Amino acid sequence: MTTLTRADWEQRAKDLKIEGRAYINGEYTAAVSGDTFECLSPVDGRLLATVASCDLADAQRAVENARATFNSGAWSRLAPAKRKATMIRFAGLLKANAEELALLETLDMGKPISDSLNIDVPGAAQALSWSGEAIDKIYDEVAATPHDQLGLVTREPVGVVAAIVPWNFPLMMACWKLGPALSTGNSVILKPSEKSPLTAIRIAALAVEAGIPKGVFNVLPGYGHTVGNALALHMDVDTLVFTGSTKIAKQLLIRSGESNMKRVWLEAGGKSPNIVFADAPDLQAAAESAAGAIAFNQGEVCTAGSRLLVERSIKDKFLPLVIEALKAWKPGNPLDPATTVGALVDTQQMNTVLSYIEAGHADGAKLVAGGKRTLQESGGTYVEPTIFDGVTNAMKIAQEEIFGPVLSVIAFDSVEEAIAIANDTQYGLAAAVWTSNISKAHLTAKALRAGSVWVNQYDGGDMTAPFGGFKQSGNGRDKSLHAFDKYTELKATWIKL
Ligand code: NAD
Repeated sequence: MTTLTRADWEQRAKDLKIEGRAYINGEYTAAVSGDTFECLSPVDGRLLATVASCDLADAQRAVENARATFNSGAWSRLAPAKRKATMIRFAGLLKANAEELALLETLDMGKPISDSLNIDVPGAAQALSWSGEAIDKIYDEVAATPHDQLGLVTREPVGVVAAIVPWNFPLMMACWKLGPALSTGNSVILKPSEKSPLTAIRIAALAVEAGIPKGVFNVLPGYGHTVGNALALHMDVDTLVFTGSTKIAKQLLIRSGESNMKRVWLEAGGKSPNIVFADAPDLQAAAESAAGAIAFNQGEVCTAGSRLLVERSIKDKFLPLVIEALKAWKPGNPLDPATTVGALVDTQQMNTVLSYIEAGHADGAKLVAGGKRTLQESGGTYVEPTIFDGVTNAMKIAQEEIFGPVLSVIAFDSVEEAIAIANDTQYGLAAAVWTSNISKAHLTAKALRAGSVWVNQYDGGDMTAPFGGFKQSGNGRDKSLHAFDKYTELKATWIKL
C-alpha cells in the first residue's frame, strides 16, 4: 500500500531517470548498430526514453555470453539451495524498488498505478520467489530397474533460453518465465515488447545486485520483429518461450523448424467465454465480475472475459446489472491512484480497438455501453469500456481477439448450446461458469476446451496452478511446478551394477 497522491507520482515521473540500453553480460550497453527507437507514454504521449534497437549482432553477442556463462557452471551448477536464496533476494529487490517499477510500468504501458503497484510488481516478485523456493524441494527419480541395474531419471537445465514477452503485463509475464528458467539454472535472454521495454531493462541490474552471475540474465529490447526473429532463428538458443499473439506464435514454430529445432513453448491469445446460467448463485456478483473481466487492464488481458454468454431467460434482468457495474470502470489518468481504467498501450492498439467497435456496428450488434475514444485532450490513448448486445458467435467481434475493453453479449437457451458456443473458437485459454448446480458446474467445466476454468468467479488462481492454453492459445504451461518442464531436459542414466 502507498499513500502517494497523483501529484506525488507526477513529480516522481518528472524526476525519474530511465535506462533504455540493452543489458548484456552484466552491463548496460548500446545496440551494436547504435540504433535506438522512441518509447512514448500512452498516458499523455510524452517521450519517455530512447531505447536500444537491438538486432542480429546484439542477439549474437548475448547468446555467446549466455552460452559461456551457462557452460562455466557459475549458475547452472550452483547448489539449488544457493540459487533459491539468490532468487529470493532478486524478488526482494523487486519489492524494495516497487514504487519505481510500478511507475515505469504505468508510464510505459498506461495501466493504472494502483494496479502496477498492487498487482504487477507483487505478482512478478511472487513468480520469482515461488519458483526459487521450490527448486531445492524437487527430487529426481530412480527407475524401476532390474536388480543389477540402477536407472536414474534426472532433470538438467536446457541451457540458453530466449524469452519473448508482450506488453500487457510486461514485468509479470517476464517473471513468469524468469522464475522457473533461472531457478532451474539456465541462462536467459529476455526480449521485451517494443511497446513496454522499460521494466525489463531495469530489473536486469537488480538480478546482478541479487547475486545472479553476470551474463546469466540479459535483456535485448528491439523494435519490431528484428531481434526476436534473430533469437528464434539462432542455432545456439536451446529453448524459446513466448507470450504474445497466436499469429507470431505460429511464426516462431516455423523459425524453430528452420533452425535448430529449439523447443518452443507458447502462451498465446484468447477469446474467453464467461457463461452465466439462470441459476447463478448471485447475479449481482456475476455482473460485477463480468464488468471487471472486460475492463480490468483496459481489456488488454489474454484471459479477458470478452464473450459474455447469458441464459436468455435472465438476460433482460442481468444485462442492466452489467451495464451498471461497468460504470465503476471509468478511464482516467493512470497516475491517479483512484483510476480503474488507464490508457491503451499506444495509438496503433487504440485504433485497432476502435476498428473492432466499428465492426460491431457494421455486423448489426447493438451498442449498449461506451463505444468511443475519450480523454483526447490528455494526448493519451483512452477508450470507453464498451458492451455490444445481440452478438452472434459468428460475428467478427466474437471470433477475433480485440485486446481492448469491448464485450460481446451472446444469449443461449440450454447447457449444450452454451458449451457449443463457448468452444466455437480457435482459442482455448480460459472460461468461467456461473451456476448453483454442482453437477452442472462440473460437467460444463469438463466440456470446456480451455486451460483454466473458473466457477462462480472470474480470473482466480495463483502461482500454485498451471496457466496456459488449449488449441491455438498455446502449448505448455506457465506457473506451478509444471512450468519447470519447459526449462529442463530429462536424462536417463543406466548404471550396470
Ligand atoms: P505480439 O505477438 O505482437 O508480440 C509479442 C512479442 O513478440 C513482442 O515482444 C514482440 O516484439 C515480439 N515479436 C513480434 N513479432 C515477432 C517476430 N516475427 N519474431 C519474434 N518476435 C516477435 O503480442 P503483443 O501484442 O505484444 O501481446 C498481446 C498478445 O499477447 C495477445 O494476443 C494476448 O492474448 C497475448 N498474451 C497471452 C498471454 C498468455 O499467457 N496466454 C498473456 C498475455 C498476453
